[in-house]
Amino acid sequence: MTNSVIFQHSKALASFRLIWHWALSPPRQCLNRLRAEHPNLLEQSDGGAFTWLSELIWREFYRHLLVAWPRLCKHRPFVGWTQQVQWRQDEKALIAWQQGKTGFPIVDAAMRQLNGTGWMHNRLRMICASFLVKDLPIDWRAGERYFISQLLDGDLAANNGGWQWAASTGTDAAPYFRIFNPTTQGERFDTQGTFIRQWVPELAEVPERDIHQPHRWAQREGRRLDYPTPMVDHKQARQMTLEAFEAAKALQEKGQNQAY
Ligand SMILES: Cc1cc2nc3c(=O)[nH]c(=O)nc-3n(C[C@H](O)[C@H](O)[C@H](O)COP(=O)(O)OP(=O)(O)OC[C@H]3O[C@@H](n4cnc5c(N)ncnc54)[C@H](O)[C@@H]3O)c2cc1C
Repeated sequence: MTNSVIFQHSKALASFRLIWHWALSPPRQCLNRLRAEHPNLLEQSDGGAFTWLSELIWREFYRHLLVAWPRLCKHRPFVGWTQQVQWRQDEKALIAWQQGKTGFPIVDAAMRQLNGTGWMHNRLRMICASFLVKDLPIDWRAGERYFISQLLDGDLAANNGGWQWAASTGTDAAPYFRIFNPTTQGERFDTQGTFIRQWVPELAEVPERDIHQPHRWAQREGRRLDYPTPMVDHKQARQMTLEAFEAAKALQEKGQNQAY
């Protein structure tokens, strides 16, 4: 090949890459189509199209993070001091969470949906991740690993970003003292318990008002439920997690944090 052929060839390649990058890459195709169908997209921030755009932006955001901070691909948190948080080693608890046998109906229904279909709604991913990390409290990396092994849409960047968000170790993390209550989350997002009954048939007979705390109903009615009792007391677990994060933070303030 002469030099000029090589030059022409690499010029064509560069143009293709430019077109790919600016117009054809999947998120840009999505954006272009969205803008074509919703020309006033940016003026209607309460609409579904706007929300969908912001979800696409989350996807891009998490991808960019991996490129800018490659340590995120190496099981390391974005926020350095959170490396010092002492997580609990509890294989039995991890398995109960994986199998949807925690005794918290919304968490169990969601985990069983994940195991059965390979998919879970974003809200449920947040609830289950928060439960593992803040209620058990087991290392977020164990959850990240399990999700990626089950999700059909498993994606390193989005999964890592979602887990680090839930674990309060990431860029845009929920502050560590903001901890989801799995019972009230269930009451808010599956008020009638329709989703729970679909995935946790043991609770089929529990009435709507008790579906999120079924053992309360069983005790009151003298019934036997073939469903685990809650594996933790949320209030106590919350306190333990706060203490673990505060201890890690104190190490940083004393300058005893490992070089990061
Ligand atoms: C702990 C946790 C783990 C997650 N793991 C993954 C994963 O492995 N793969 C994955 O694609 N998403 C992951 N997400 C993000 C989100 O839950 C899914 O992208 C979303 O549920 C997919 O549903 P959908 O296709 O109906 O998306 P829609 O709500 O219709 O959104 C459109 C697209 O935007 C992107 N998107 C939406 N929400 C998010 C988000 N929060 N973060 C990043 N991208 C988003 C996805 O590409 C999605 O297909 C995770 C979130 C959490 C909290």
